[in-house]
Amino acid sequence: MGLKKEHELGKKYHIVAFATHAGDMEGVAGGVIAKHVKVGHKATIVNFMLGEKAPFATAAGLSAEEYAEEKRKESEEAARVLGANVRFLPFKDAELPDTDDARYLICDLIRELKPDIIICPGPKDVQKDHIITYRIVKDAIFWASLPGMKRKYPAHSIKNLYFAEGLATKNFSPNVYIDITDVFDIWVESLMKFRYIRDEKFGGFPRLDYYKTLARLRGIESGFKYAQAFETDLILKLQFFPINE
Ligand SMILES: [Zn+2]
Repeated sequence: MGLKKEHELGKKYHIVAFATHAGDMEGVAGGVIAKHVKVGHKATIVNFMLGEKAPFATAAGLSAEEYAEEKRKESEEAARVLGANVRFLPFKDAELPDTDDARYLICDLIRELKPDIIICPGPKDVQKDHIITYRIVKDAIFWASLPGMKRKYPAHSIKNLYFAEGLATKNFSPNVYIDITDVFDIWVESLMKFRYIRDEKFGGFPRLDYYKTLARLRGIESGFKYAQAFETDLILKLQFFPINE
């Protein structure tokens, strides 16, 4: 049985996308999320922090508290467009602690949400809080899987982990491309909920163009019109080679 067959058999998966900053995962995985939700899968975006200390927001005269409030509302609206649930963690922008306590929190969340698939920033990301997000999520996935780790919820093992392409990812070498052509408009609608993405003057550079162009580039590479791409250390255990359609 190939990977694509499970989808055809109607299995429903829960995708949990861990974003460092609200808006990150909508940008680099929002199309894939919308695509899965459209056919009946479930998705949850978990934001470690809102990104409330963004220099462009400070420059526009917004306090961290004011921008946090704006970003939270934007994230809720964007998730609604994608058909995803959204959670907000209480971490402060630029101050994500690389601690066991943070790992316990994510371990408990993984056990509560029971994702089949997790998307998060990868080890090639160079932004400070993104790197720590990767470390925390990777370790929390391990902890969540250990029955001997006694917590509120029982152990849970995910099926696959995918690393998203961030603005600050160096030498990204995707080995999974997902066709998002049929949900492209839904994805763009969700991105438009974020002022820092839709308003080039506010956000400091043309992020909407960046995300759309990146999706086109990944599409050209993979033979689709638009695609989002991921790195994975997924190990395939099959009887025969999987074949692309
Ligand atoms: Zn970010």
